[in-house]
Amino acid sequence: MKVARLLTPGADFVIEELPRPQPGPGEVLIKIAGAGVCHSDLHIKQGGVPGVRLPNTLGHENAGWIEEFGPGTESRGFEIGDPVVVFGGWGCGTCRFCLGGQEQLCNTSLWSGVGPPGGYAEFLIVPSVRVLVPTGDVDPVLAATLTDAALTPYSAVKKTLPRLVPGTSVLSIGVGGLGQYGIQFLKMLTPARVIAIDTDPAKRELASTLGADVVLDPGADDATDQIMELTRGQGAEAVIDFVGVNSTMTLGTLSVGKQGLFVLVGLAGGSVPYSFFGIAQGASLTTSNWGTRNELTEVLALAQRGALVSHIEKYPLTAINDVFNRLERGMITGRAVLVP
Ligand code: NAD
Ligand code: ZN
Ligand code: ZN
Repeated sequence: MKVARLLTPGADFVIEELPRPQPGPGEVLIKIAGAGVCHSDLHIKQGGVPGVRLPNTLGHENAGWIEEFGPGTESRGFEIGDPVVVFGGWGCGTCRFCLGGQEQLCNTSLWSGVGPPGGYAEFLIVPSVRVLVPTGDVDPVLAATLTDAALTPYSAVKKTLPRLVPGTSVLSIGVGGLGQYGIQFLKMLTPARVIAIDTDPAKRELASTLGADVVLDPGADDATDQIMELTRGQGAEAVIDFVGVNSTMTLGTLSVGKQGLFVLVGLAGGSVPYSFFGIAQGASLTTSNWGTRNELTEVLALAQRGALVSHIEKYPLTAINDVFNRLERGMITGRAVLVP
Protein backbone atom coordinates (compact mmCIF):
# COMPACT_ATOMS: atom_id res chain seq x y z
CA MET A 1 0.00 0.00 0.00
CA LYS A 2 0.96 3.62 -0.51
CA VAL A 3 2.06 5.42 2.68
CA ALA A 4 3.34 8.95 3.38
CA ARG A 5 5.94 8.68 6.13
CA LEU A 6 7.70 11.36 8.12
CA LEU A 7 11.22 10.21 8.90
CA THR A 8 12.59 13.15 10.90
CA PRO A 9 11.28 16.53 12.09
CA GLY A 10 11.67 19.22 9.46
CA ALA A 11 11.89 16.76 6.56
CA ASP A 12 9.37 16.36 3.77
CA PHE A 13 7.06 13.33 3.80
CA VAL A 14 8.29 10.38 1.77
CA ILE A 15 5.82 8.30 -0.25
CA GLU A 16 6.66 4.62 0.18
CA GLU A 17 5.14 1.32 -0.89
CA LEU A 18 4.71 -0.97 2.14
CA PRO A 19 2.97 -4.33 2.48
CA ARG A 20 -0.71 -4.03 3.35
CA PRO A 21 -0.92 -4.46 7.17
CA GLN A 22 -2.64 -7.57 8.56
CA PRO A 23 -5.11 -6.94 11.40
CA GLY A 24 -4.26 -8.96 14.52
CA PRO A 25 -6.71 -10.49 17.00
CA GLY A 26 -9.30 -7.89 18.03
CA GLU A 27 -8.13 -5.41 15.39
CA VAL A 28 -9.85 -4.10 12.27
CA LEU A 29 -8.34 -3.04 8.95
CA ILE A 30 -9.82 0.18 7.54
CA LYS A 31 -9.53 1.21 3.90
CA ILE A 32 -8.97 4.95 4.12
CA ALA A 33 -11.44 7.22 2.29
CA GLY A 34 -9.85 10.41 3.58
CA ALA A 35 -7.43 11.65 6.22
CA GLY A 36 -7.74 15.24 7.42
CA VAL A 37 -4.59 17.35 7.60
CA CYS A 38 -4.54 18.80 11.10
CA HIS A 39 -2.30 21.72 12.00
CA SER A 40 -1.04 19.51 14.86
CA ASP A 41 0.65 17.34 12.23
CA LEU A 42 2.35 20.48 10.94
CA HIS A 43 3.53 21.21 14.51
CA ILE A 44 4.83 17.59 14.68
CA LYS A 45 6.54 17.98 11.31
CA GLN A 46 8.18 21.16 12.60
CA GLY A 47 9.36 19.32 15.73
CA GLY A 48 7.06 21.38 17.97
CA VAL A 49 5.24 18.55 19.76
CA PRO A 50 7.09 16.77 22.57
CA GLY A 51 7.06 12.98 22.85
CA VAL A 52 6.24 12.10 19.22
CA ARG A 53 8.32 9.21 17.91
CA LEU A 54 9.54 9.36 14.32
CA PRO A 55 9.73 7.81 11.76
CA ASN A 56 5.97 7.36 11.64
CA THR A 57 2.93 7.58 9.44
CA LEU A 58 0.98 10.58 10.73
CA GLY A 59 -2.73 11.26 10.23
CA HIS A 60 -5.20 11.13 13.12
CA GLU A 61 -8.41 12.30 11.36
CA ASN A 62 -9.52 9.19 9.58
CA ALA A 63 -12.59 7.83 7.85
CA GLY A 64 -13.08 4.94 5.46
CA TRP A 65 -14.61 1.49 5.09
CA ILE A 66 -14.14 -1.73 7.04
CA GLU A 67 -11.86 -3.90 4.91
CA GLU A 68 -11.12 -6.87 7.17
CA PHE A 69 -11.57 -8.09 10.75
CA GLY A 70 -8.59 -9.65 12.52
CA PRO A 71 -8.81 -13.27 13.67
CA GLY A 72 -11.42 -13.55 16.43
CA THR A 73 -12.35 -9.86 16.28
CA GLU A 74 -15.94 -9.41 17.46
CA SER A 75 -17.71 -7.43 14.74
CA ARG A 76 -20.50 -6.18 17.08
CA GLY A 77 -22.91 -5.47 14.23
CA PHE A 78 -20.34 -3.93 11.88
CA GLU A 79 -19.85 -5.55 8.48
CA ILE A 80 -17.15 -5.56 5.83
CA GLY A 81 -17.63 -2.49 3.63
CA ASP A 82 -19.39 -0.39 6.29
CA PRO A 83 -18.41 3.30 6.15
CA VAL A 84 -16.94 4.38 9.49
CA VAL A 85 -15.08 7.22 11.14
CA VAL A 86 -12.26 6.40 13.52
CA PHE A 87 -12.11 7.80 17.04
CA GLY A 88 -8.35 8.33 17.27
CA GLY A 89 -7.63 9.09 20.95
CA TRP A 90 -6.78 5.52 21.88
CA GLY A 91 -5.75 4.91 25.51
CA CYS A 92 -4.90 1.96 27.75
CA GLY A 93 -8.56 1.13 28.41
CA THR A 94 -8.05 0.52 32.13
CA CYS A 95 -7.04 3.82 33.79
CA ARG A 96 -9.46 6.23 35.48
CA PHE A 97 -9.68 8.48 32.41
CA CYS A 98 -10.23 5.64 29.94
CA LEU A 99 -12.87 4.05 32.15
CA GLY A 100 -14.56 7.42 32.58
CA GLY A 101 -14.86 7.72 28.80
CA GLN A 102 -12.05 10.23 28.38
CA GLU A 103 -9.63 7.91 26.67
CA GLN A 104 -7.97 10.84 24.87
CA LEU A 105 -6.58 11.98 28.25
CA CYS A 106 -4.90 8.62 29.00
CA ASN A 107 -1.20 8.79 29.82
CA THR A 108 -0.38 6.13 27.25
CA SER A 109 -1.47 8.41 24.35
CA LEU A 110 -1.60 5.52 21.90
CA TRP A 111 -3.14 7.88 19.39
CA SER A 112 -3.58 6.87 15.82
CA GLY A 113 -0.85 8.62 13.83
CA VAL A 114 1.03 9.76 16.94
CA GLY A 115 1.91 6.36 18.50
CA PRO A 116 0.71 3.63 16.13
CA PRO A 117 0.75 4.44 12.38
CA GLY A 118 -2.00 6.81 11.21
CA GLY A 119 -4.10 7.41 8.14
CA TYR A 120 -1.78 9.09 5.63
CA ALA A 121 -1.90 5.73 3.88
CA GLU A 122 -4.24 3.48 1.94
CA PHE A 123 -5.03 1.31 4.97
CA LEU A 124 -5.12 1.77 8.74
CA ILE A 125 -5.17 -0.77 11.56
CA VAL A 126 -7.45 0.15 14.47
CA PRO A 127 -7.31 -1.71 17.81
CA SER A 128 -11.02 -2.57 18.12
CA VAL A 129 -14.47 -1.97 16.66
CA ARG A 130 -14.96 0.10 19.83
CA VAL A 131 -13.18 3.05 18.17
CA LEU A 132 -15.42 2.99 15.09
CA VAL A 133 -18.54 5.12 14.63
CA PRO A 134 -20.86 4.49 11.67
CA THR A 135 -20.65 7.32 9.13
CA GLY A 136 -24.20 6.87 7.85
CA ASP A 137 -24.86 8.85 4.70
CA VAL A 138 -22.25 11.55 5.40
CA ASP A 139 -19.67 11.76 2.58
CA PRO A 140 -16.80 9.52 3.81
CA VAL A 141 -14.08 11.97 2.74
CA LEU A 142 -15.70 14.89 4.52
CA ALA A 143 -16.44 12.64 7.51
CA ALA A 144 -12.71 12.40 8.27
CA THR A 145 -12.74 16.03 9.42
CA LEU A 146 -15.45 15.29 11.97
CA THR A 147 -13.10 13.09 14.03
CA ASP A 148 -10.91 16.01 15.16
CA ALA A 149 -11.47 19.30 13.30
CA ALA A 150 -15.12 19.11 14.46
CA LEU A 151 -14.82 16.90 17.56
CA THR A 152 -12.19 19.06 19.29
CA PRO A 153 -14.13 22.35 19.06
CA TYR A 154 -17.33 20.52 19.98
CA SER A 155 -15.71 19.38 23.23
CA ALA A 156 -14.20 22.84 23.85
CA VAL A 157 -17.53 24.58 23.25
CA LYS A 158 -19.28 22.19 25.65
CA LYS A 159 -16.93 23.37 28.41
CA THR A 160 -18.17 26.95 27.91
CA LEU A 161 -21.91 26.17 27.89
CA PRO A 162 -22.70 26.92 31.57
CA ARG A 163 -21.35 30.46 31.15
CA LEU A 164 -22.96 31.28 27.82
CA VAL A 165 -26.45 32.30 28.90
CA PRO A 166 -28.51 34.86 26.92
CA GLY A 167 -26.82 38.26 26.77
CA THR A 168 -23.28 36.92 26.92
CA SER A 169 -20.44 37.01 24.39
CA VAL A 170 -17.82 34.49 23.34
CA LEU A 171 -14.57 35.04 21.44
CA SER A 172 -13.55 32.37 18.94
CA ILE A 173 -9.95 32.93 17.85
CA GLY A 174 -8.76 31.29 14.59
CA VAL A 175 -11.11 30.30 11.77
CA GLY A 176 -9.18 27.39 10.28
CA GLY A 177 -9.95 23.68 10.19
CA LEU A 178 -11.15 23.69 13.81
CA GLY A 179 -12.43 27.25 14.05
CA GLN A 180 -14.90 26.77 11.16
CA TYR A 181 -16.72 24.19 13.28
CA GLY A 182 -16.19 26.07 16.55
CA ILE A 183 -18.27 29.01 15.29
CA GLN A 184 -21.06 26.67 14.16
CA PHE A 185 -21.21 24.82 17.50
CA LEU A 186 -21.27 28.12 19.39
CA LYS A 187 -24.16 29.36 17.25
CA MET A 188 -26.00 26.05 17.48
CA LEU A 189 -25.55 25.30 21.17
CA THR A 190 -25.50 28.74 22.82
CA PRO A 191 -27.44 32.02 22.70
CA ALA A 192 -24.18 34.00 23.08
CA ARG A 193 -22.96 36.64 20.63
CA VAL A 194 -20.09 35.04 18.70
CA ILE A 195 -17.10 37.29 18.00
CA ALA A 196 -14.76 35.54 15.55
CA ILE A 197 -11.14 36.64 15.15
CA ASP A 198 -8.63 35.82 12.43
CA THR A 199 -5.64 37.60 10.92
CA ASP A 200 -6.70 36.56 7.41
CA PRO A 201 -9.50 38.62 5.78
CA ALA A 202 -10.66 35.57 3.79
CA LYS A 203 -11.06 33.57 7.00
CA ARG A 204 -12.99 36.45 8.57
CA GLU A 205 -15.29 36.41 5.55
CA LEU A 206 -15.76 32.65 6.06
CA ALA A 207 -16.56 33.27 9.74
CA SER A 208 -19.39 35.61 8.71
CA THR A 209 -20.86 33.07 6.33
CA LEU A 210 -20.74 30.47 9.13
CA GLY A 211 -22.83 32.71 11.35
CA ALA A 212 -20.37 34.73 13.46
CA ASP A 213 -22.15 37.82 14.74
CA VAL A 214 -19.03 40.01 14.67
CA VAL A 215 -15.65 39.46 12.99
CA LEU A 216 -12.50 41.19 14.15
CA ASP A 217 -8.97 41.63 12.89
CA PRO A 218 -6.59 40.99 15.81
CA GLY A 219 -4.03 43.16 14.01
CA ALA A 220 -6.19 46.26 14.53
CA ASP A 221 -4.60 48.57 17.13
CA ASP A 222 -7.86 48.77 19.01
CA ALA A 223 -8.82 45.06 18.89
CA THR A 224 -9.01 44.75 22.68
CA ASP A 225 -10.92 48.05 22.95
CA GLN A 226 -13.39 46.81 20.33
CA ILE A 227 -13.97 43.65 22.35
CA MET A 228 -14.48 45.65 25.54
CA GLU A 229 -16.93 47.94 23.73
CA LEU A 230 -18.84 44.95 22.34
CA THR A 231 -19.07 43.46 25.84
CA ARG A 232 -20.06 46.72 27.60
CA GLY A 233 -16.68 46.86 29.31
CA GLN A 234 -17.21 43.48 30.94
CA GLY A 235 -15.11 41.25 28.71
CA ALA A 236 -16.30 38.01 27.13
CA GLU A 237 -17.80 35.28 29.29
CA ALA A 238 -15.78 32.72 27.33
CA VAL A 239 -12.82 32.70 24.94
CA ILE A 240 -11.72 29.74 22.84
CA ASP A 241 -8.25 30.07 21.34
CA PHE A 242 -7.86 27.83 18.29
CA VAL A 243 -4.36 29.22 17.57
CA GLY A 244 -2.34 29.30 20.79
CA VAL A 245 0.47 31.76 20.01
CA ASN A 246 1.58 34.46 22.48
CA SER A 247 -0.50 37.17 20.79
CA THR A 248 -3.78 35.20 20.72
CA MET A 249 -3.33 34.06 24.31
CA THR A 250 -2.64 37.66 25.34
CA LEU A 251 -5.69 38.95 23.48
CA GLY A 252 -7.79 36.13 24.89
CA THR A 253 -6.78 36.52 28.52
CA LEU A 254 -7.10 40.33 28.33
CA SER A 255 -10.59 39.93 26.85
CA VAL A 256 -12.01 37.34 29.22
CA GLY A 257 -14.40 38.79 31.79
CA LYS A 258 -14.91 38.18 35.52
CA GLN A 259 -15.46 34.48 36.26
CA GLY A 260 -15.08 33.88 32.54
CA LEU A 261 -13.40 30.89 30.93
CA PHE A 262 -10.41 30.89 28.59
CA VAL A 263 -10.09 27.58 26.74
CA LEU A 264 -6.78 26.94 25.00
CA VAL A 265 -7.00 24.52 22.08
CA GLY A 266 -4.11 25.65 19.83
CA LEU A 267 -0.81 23.85 20.32
CA ALA A 268 1.41 26.53 18.82
CA GLY A 269 3.44 26.72 22.02
CA GLY A 270 2.49 30.24 23.11
CA SER A 271 2.29 31.30 26.73
CA VAL A 272 0.95 34.17 28.75
CA PRO A 273 1.82 35.58 32.19
CA TYR A 274 -0.67 34.60 34.88
CA SER A 275 -0.97 36.88 37.87
CA PHE A 276 -3.63 38.07 40.29
CA PHE A 277 -4.07 41.53 38.79
CA GLY A 278 -3.28 40.42 35.22
CA ILE A 279 -6.61 38.70 34.61
CA ALA A 280 -10.26 39.41 35.43
CA GLN A 281 -11.28 38.28 38.91
CA GLY A 282 -12.22 34.63 39.12
CA ALA A 283 -11.50 33.88 35.46
CA SER A 284 -10.42 30.30 34.73
CA LEU A 285 -7.86 29.10 32.21
CA THR A 286 -7.95 25.59 30.86
CA THR A 287 -6.74 23.51 27.95
CA SER A 288 -9.03 21.25 25.94
CA ASN A 289 -7.66 18.14 24.37
CA TRP A 290 -9.58 16.47 21.51
CA GLY A 291 -12.94 14.99 22.61
CA THR A 292 -14.49 11.73 23.74
CA ARG A 293 -15.81 8.88 21.65
CA ASN A 294 -19.33 9.69 22.86
CA GLU A 295 -18.88 13.29 21.76
CA LEU A 296 -17.82 11.98 18.35
CA THR A 297 -21.15 10.15 18.04
CA GLU A 298 -22.86 13.45 18.93
CA VAL A 299 -20.92 15.28 16.21
CA LEU A 300 -21.83 12.53 13.72
CA ALA A 301 -25.48 12.87 14.71
CA LEU A 302 -25.35 16.58 13.86
CA ALA A 303 -23.59 15.91 10.54
CA GLN A 304 -26.07 13.17 9.65
CA ARG A 305 -29.00 15.53 10.01
CA GLY A 306 -27.26 18.08 7.81
CA ALA A 307 -26.63 20.59 10.61
CA LEU A 308 -22.93 21.17 9.83
CA VAL A 309 -21.26 23.06 7.00
CA SER A 310 -17.82 21.62 6.21
CA HIS A 311 -15.33 23.54 4.12
CA ILE A 312 -12.86 20.99 2.83
CA GLU A 313 -10.21 20.85 0.11
CA LYS A 314 -9.53 17.38 -1.31
CA TYR A 315 -6.02 16.42 -2.44
CA PRO A 316 -4.40 13.14 -3.47
CA LEU A 317 -2.18 11.59 -0.78
CA THR A 318 0.80 12.02 -3.10
CA ALA A 319 0.36 15.82 -2.89
CA ILE A 320 1.00 15.73 0.87
CA ASN A 321 4.10 17.94 0.84
CA ASP A 322 2.36 20.59 -1.24
CA VAL A 323 -0.64 20.45 1.15
CA PHE A 324 1.58 20.95 4.22
CA ASN A 325 3.28 23.89 2.50
CA ARG A 326 -0.12 25.41 1.78
CA LEU A 327 -1.26 24.85 5.38
CA GLU A 328 1.91 26.48 6.71
CA ARG A 329 1.29 29.54 4.51
CA GLY A 330 -2.38 29.82 5.59
CA MET A 331 -3.59 28.88 2.12
CA ILE A 332 -6.10 26.17 3.10
CA THR A 333 -9.73 27.19 3.61
CA GLY A 334 -11.30 24.93 6.22
CA ARG A 335 -9.69 21.50 6.23
CA ALA A 336 -7.51 19.76 3.62
CA VAL A 337 -8.28 16.05 3.29
CA LEU A 338 -5.85 13.60 1.71
CA VAL A 339 -7.43 10.91 -0.44
CA PRO A 340 -5.25 7.85 -1.15
P1 NAD B 1 -5.44 25.89 10.76
O1 NAD B 1 -4.10 26.18 10.25
O2 NAD B 1 -6.44 25.18 9.89
O3 NAD B 1 -6.17 27.24 11.25
C1 NAD B 1 -5.50 28.22 11.98
C2 NAD B 1 -6.27 29.54 11.77
O4 NAD B 1 -5.77 30.51 12.65
C3 NAD B 1 -6.11 30.12 10.36
O5 NAD B 1 -7.37 30.54 9.87
C4 NAD B 1 -5.20 31.32 10.57
O6 NAD B 1 -5.43 32.37 9.65
C5 NAD B 1 -5.55 31.72 11.97
N1 NAD B 1 -4.50 32.46 12.68
C6 NAD B 1 -3.16 32.26 12.63
N2 NAD B 1 -2.53 33.12 13.43
C7 NAD B 1 -3.49 33.89 14.01
C8 NAD B 1 -3.47 34.95 14.95
N3 NAD B 1 -2.33 35.41 15.45
N4 NAD B 1 -4.66 35.50 15.31
C9 NAD B 1 -5.83 35.04 14.81
N5 NAD B 1 -5.89 34.05 13.91
C10 NAD B 1 -4.75 33.47 13.52
O7 NAD B 1 -5.25 25.07 12.12
P2 NAD B 1 -6.23 24.00 12.81
O8 NAD B 1 -5.99 22.66 12.21
O9 NAD B 1 -7.57 24.57 12.89
O10 NAD B 1 -5.58 23.91 14.27
C11 NAD B 1 -5.56 25.03 15.12
C12 NAD B 1 -4.69 24.76 16.31
O11 NAD B 1 -5.34 23.78 17.13
C13 NAD B 1 -3.32 24.17 15.98
O12 NAD B 1 -2.37 24.66 16.92
C14 NAD B 1 -3.52 22.69 16.21
O13 NAD B 1 -2.32 22.01 16.50
C15 NAD B 1 -4.44 22.71 17.39
N6 NAD B 1 -5.23 21.51 17.64
C16 NAD B 1 -5.46 21.20 18.93
C17 NAD B 1 -6.24 20.12 19.25
C18 NAD B 1 -6.52 19.80 20.68
O14 NAD B 1 -7.07 18.75 20.97
N7 NAD B 1 -6.18 20.66 21.61
C19 NAD B 1 -6.79 19.33 18.25
C20 NAD B 1 -6.54 19.69 16.92
C21 NAD B 1 -5.77 20.78 16.63
ZN1 ZN C 1 -5.56 17.13 15.25
ZN1 ZN D 1 -5.93 4.86 30.08
